[in-house]
Amino acid sequence: MKTLFEKIVDGEIPAKIIYQDDICAAINDINPQAPVHVLLFPKKPIERLSKAEQSDADTLAHLMLTVPNVAKICGLDNGFRVVINNGKDAGETVPHMHIHILGGTTLGWPPC
Ligand code: 5GP
Repeated sequence: MKTLFEKIVDGEIPAKIIYQDDICAAINDINPQAPVHVLLFPKKPIERLSKAEQSDADTLAHLMLTVPNVAKICGLDNGFRVVINNGKDAGETVPHMHIHILGGTTLGWPPC
């Protein structure tokens, strides 16, 4: 069964894809928590970060190296935050690992 993000990449659920390559894609979050709130995920799903295996190393590295490119596309020249919610206590709701890229304002810290 396809994940939500696989359905989005396959055009079965509408979303503006703001970046994609062979390995990953980025979309705007449907419920933004900052002026810019993007989700970057691998096209081949990893359920969550804690389920990643050594064979996912290249994909994870590619995702991290793609974050600044997506941030640049979004105009986040003054900075951005990356968040990965892993599991119930972190508020994970979509079991297809993704990186939240947040910015467009001065973000508070600590986050809770
Ligand atoms: P998580 O809570 O798993 O870390 O992040 C999942 C994110 O997916 C949430 O921020 C939520 O707003 C977003 N989301 C859920 N459903 C959709 C959808 O159909 N389209 C888009 N673009 N984002 C979604």
